[in-house]
Amino acid sequence: MTDPARQRRGRVGSTGASVAQRLLKFVSVEKAMPAKRGAAERRHDFGEIYGEFDAERAKQQAGRCSQCGIPYCQIHCPLGNNIPDWLMLTAEGRLEEAYEVAAATNNMPEVCGRICPQDRLCEGNCVIEKGFDSVTIGSVEKYITETAFAKGWVKPPKPLRELDQSIGIIGAGPAGLAAAEQLRRKGYQVHVYDRYDRVGGLLVYGIPNFKLEKQVIARRHELLALGGITFHLNFEIGRDSSLAALRQRHDAILIASGVYKARDMACPGIGLANVVAALDYLTASNRKGLGDAVPAFDSGALDAAGKHIVVVGGGDTAMDCVRTAVRQGALSVRCLYRRDRKNMPGSQREVKHAEEEGVEFVWLAAPEALMGEGVVRQVRAHRVHLGVADASGRQVPQPLPGSHFDLPADLVIMALGFDPEDVPVLFGAPELSVTRWGTLKIDFRSMMTSLDGVFAAGDIVRGASLVVWGIRDGRDAAEQMHRHVQAKTAAASAVAAE
Ligand SMILES: Cc1cc2nc3c(=O)[nH]c(=O)nc-3n(C[C@H](O)[C@H](O)[C@H](O)COP(=O)(O)OP(=O)(O)OC[C@H]3O[C@@H](n4cnc5c(N)ncnc54)[C@H](O)[C@@H]3O)c2cc1C
Ligand code: SF4
Repeated sequence: MTDPARQRRGRVGSTGASVAQRLLKFVSVEKAMPAKRGAAERRHDFGEIYGEFDAERAKQQAGRCSQCGIPYCQIHCPLGNNIPDWLMLTAEGRLEEAYEVAAATNNMPEVCGRICPQDRLCEGNCVIEKGFDSVTIGSVEKYITETAFAKGWVKPPKPLRELDQSIGIIGAGPAGLAAAEQLRRKGYQVHVYDRYDRVGGLLVYGIPNFKLEKQVIARRHELLALGGITFHLNFEIGRDSSLAALRQRHDAILIASGVYKARDMACPGIGLANVVAALDYLTASNRKGLGDAVPAFDSGALDAAGKHIVVVGGGDTAMDCVRTAVRQGALSVRCLYRRDRKNMPGSQREVKHAEEEGVEFVWLAAPEALMGEGVVRQVRAHRVHLGVADASGRQVPQPLPGSHFDLPADLVIMALGFDPEDVPVLFGAPELSVTRWGTLKIDFRSMMTSLDGVFAAGDIVRGASLVVWGIRDGRDAAEQMHRHVQAKTAAASAVAAE
C-alpha cells in the first residue's frame, strides 16, 4: 500500500493525479450528512435515523478534507485515529486500505462513527469548521467500516501463534471487548465474563436502537467468538465467582464493569409510583425491542404510551429517554434541565434531533416536588438562574424565588447520571482501592489496581464517559497486561533455570 502520509506530503496520488484534484474540496462541495429520515416518520419506529452514504457521496465528502499540516481532528479523537489518511484513501476510492487504517486504531469504528459526539471531538476541531462546515468524519468512518463488513474484509482476531497464558475480563462493554480483541490478537486465551445475557454492555442495554442498532453489536460478538474469545454470559462476579477465585484461574484480570448506580434526586414525592431510573426505563425498552419478555414494560410501568412524560437531566441518557418516550407514543415529553442549552452535557446534535421529534425542553428549571396520591401526577418545578462559577468552573444554578410552575407527569424519569457500585464489597475484595468517587484506583502508567495482576479500564475508572474512551482504555490496558504477563513469565522462567 502506498504510504498515505508520504503521499499527502508529496500531494501526489497513487495514480499520478494531483491529490488536490480529489481533496481540498471544501470550498466547492458543501457538507452533507447521509440522508436523515424525517421526524414524522422516525417518531414511530426505533430504526436508526441516518441512512448511509453511497460510494460517490462518501468520496465527495471525504474529499472535503483540507489535509492540513496539524490534524486537530486526530488530536481530539481519543483514539488518535489517523483521520486525514483514511479520508484521503476514501476520496481515492481505496476503501480496503481506508478500512485498514481506520481499524488499526479502533476496535469498533462502526460504533464510533455512529455515536461519538463528533461535534465535541474530531469534527468540532476540524480546521475547515472555521468558515466552512466540518468534514463529516463520523459518517465516513461508518461508511468505510460498513463497506468492509459487506465485502468480507473484517476478519476475526486470529493470532499468529497461541500463548498458554489466560486472561479474564470482567465486563463485555466497549472497554472489555477492545481489550479482549487486542489480547486475543497477541495469542492469549481470553475469557470474558458478563452478568448480562448479551455482549455489549451499555451499547445493548443503555443506548437505544435509533442511535445504534443491536445487530451491529451482535456482529462484533460473533466475530470475537469466531476469533476464539470465550464468553461466559449470565456470570456475575460476586455471585457466581469471587474476584479471588477468578485470579486463581487466570494470569491477569481486567475489571471493565462500568458504572451502574443511578444518582438520586432529593425532593418530596420521590417515592411515588411511576418515578423511575433512566437505565431501568431504557433497558426495558431495549429488551422489548430485542423480543425479550419484559413484565415491567407489559404492565405499563416502564412504557410511556399515552402518558405525560417528564425527564429530569441534560446528558446523553436524558436525550435517549425523551426520544424513546416519543417513539413509545407518549402524549407529551418534556425535558427539565437546570442549566441552559449551552451548558448541557449532552450532544447538541441529539438535542436537535429530540426537538425535531417534538420534545419540549424546559431549560433553567429544576424539580422541587413530585405530586400525586400514591402515583405521580405532576412535577412542581422552579426557575433557576446561573450564578457565579464554583471551583470546577461551572456556574452554579440558583433558584429564583416565586417562580414555581407545574407540569403534568404520569411518568417521571430520572436521568441524573451514574456512580460506581461498591466494587470491593460486590467482588468480595476489600483490598481493592477506590477513589473518593468510588471509581477504581489505578496506577495511571501500568493501569494496575491495588491488586497485583488486576487491571481496570473504562467507566469504572473514569466515571460515566464515552464509548470511544472505553475503547481507548481497553486498548491501553491490554498493552499493559501483556507487558505484565510477559515480565512475570520471564521472571518465572529465570527462577526455574537457576
Ligand atoms: C443511556 C446512555 C446513552 C449513552 N450514549 C452514548 C453515546 O451516544 N455516545 C457515547 O460515546 N457514549 C454514550 N454513553 C456512554 C457509554 O455507553 C459508556 O461510556 C460505555 O459503554 C462504557 O464502557 P465500559 O466498557 O466501561 O462499560 P459498560 O458499557 O457499562 O459495560 C460494562 C459491562 O460490565 C458488566 N458487569 C458489571 N458488573 C459486573 C459483574 N459484577 N460481573 C460481571 N459483569 C459485570 C455489565 O453487565 C456490562 O456489560 C451512553 C451511556 C448511557 C447510559
Ligand atoms: S472515533 Fe469518534 S472522535 Fe475518533 S474519528 Fe471516529 S467519530 Fe471522531
